[in-house]
Amino acid sequence: MEKVVIIGTGCAGLTAAVYTARANLEPLVLSGTMPGGLLTTTSIVENFPGFPEGIDGYELMTRMQQQAEKFGAKVRFATVDSVDLSARPIKLVIDGEPVETESLIVATGAGHRHLGVPGEEILEKKGVTYCATCDGALPMFRNQPLVVVGGGDSACEEAMYLTRFASTVYLIHRRDSLRASRIMAERTLANPKIKPVWNTVVTEVLDPALGKVTGVRLKNLQTSTEELLPCAGVFVAVGHLPNTQLFKDVLPLDENGYFLTTQGSATKIPGVFVAGDCADHVYRQAITAAGMGCMAAIDAERYLAGLNQ
Ligand SMILES: Cc1cc2nc3c(=O)[nH]c(=O)nc-3n(C[C@H](O)[C@H](O)[C@H](O)COP(=O)(O)OP(=O)(O)OC[C@H]3O[C@@H](n4cnc5c(N)ncnc54)[C@H](O)[C@@H]3O)c2cc1C
Repeated sequence: MEKVVIIGTGCAGLTAAVYTARANLEPLVLSGTMPGGLLTTTSIVENFPGFPEGIDGYELMTRMQQQAEKFGAKVRFATVDSVDLSARPIKLVIDGEPVETESLIVATGAGHRHLGVPGEEILEKKGVTYCATCDGALPMFRNQPLVVVGGGDSACEEAMYLTRFASTVYLIHRRDSLRASRIMAERTLANPKIKPVWNTVVTEVLDPALGKVTGVRLKNLQTSTEELLPCAGVFVAVGHLPNTQLFKDVLPLDENGYFLTTQGSATKIPGVFVAGDCADHVYRQAITAAGMGCMAAIDAERYLAGLNQ
């Protein structure tokens, strides 16, 4: 019987592992198919406190894992297949093997929705990105025309943020008005650096042969006309998909599939806590995920202490 199982080895899961390991709970930490989580897919992280010259995403996550293991965390390359939260102890099936635990921290993260057009995947990290806050300040985007795809609050926020660096930000949206909240839409459209392109979709990102983004092919959905728009970066903001499918009938989720918490990191099921991007559709940063991992660890520790009183 485990005292605590942590699902996920992103910033949230590994921070929870550091805290619960230091509390002598010997957490079992499961990496899933992406050890180190989403941050391992980026080269330089410039906004994680403590690294004034920036740090490689993979190295940061390796260090977090080492820190957790130093205090006794058991990190396993394994995936949770199913969960049963209907009775005590909590039961999990991990790569086909049953495991029981007194408490559970879910830190399964969220993936980005992709456009699914030619050139997108191959040019990821070479000009195609899913996070303006993370990548917008990179030298390759400075004083260049940039494209943001989407029409919701996130797309508007990304576009506004990018006006600090870009020469022009083209906001490509499939409809003829923004889905974003009114105040956000008004602010975005009032910004002289942002040029909306309505009723239009991106059908291709160019140029894989050059190994960098040089432009996008656009199609107007009303007229079916196509055009090439030169740009140095494509910021895709068409939504996220939280990795919460395992829990869809057992824990409360919001309309977009994110975990809903009751107090702190707690869920409606005693002993089950959530942390990081799977429970956060607003901030989605390494440091906020780490902070939520810390909260979940402290909440789990207190829950276990209460059981043993
Ligand atoms: C390209 C890119 C660049 C970024 N750059 C920055 C940046 O510069 N600064 C910044 O602050 N943020 C950045 N971010 C955002 C940051 O990566 C995320 O906010 C952070 O990784 C969220 O951490 P998390 O622990 O919540 O989830 P994740 O990092 O997504 O980790 C989720 C973990 O859960 C595991 N998992 C999922 N399902 C299962 C399962 N069934 N069983 C076992 N394990 C499972 C996964 O394998 C993974 O280990 C960037 C994101 C991307 C995509």
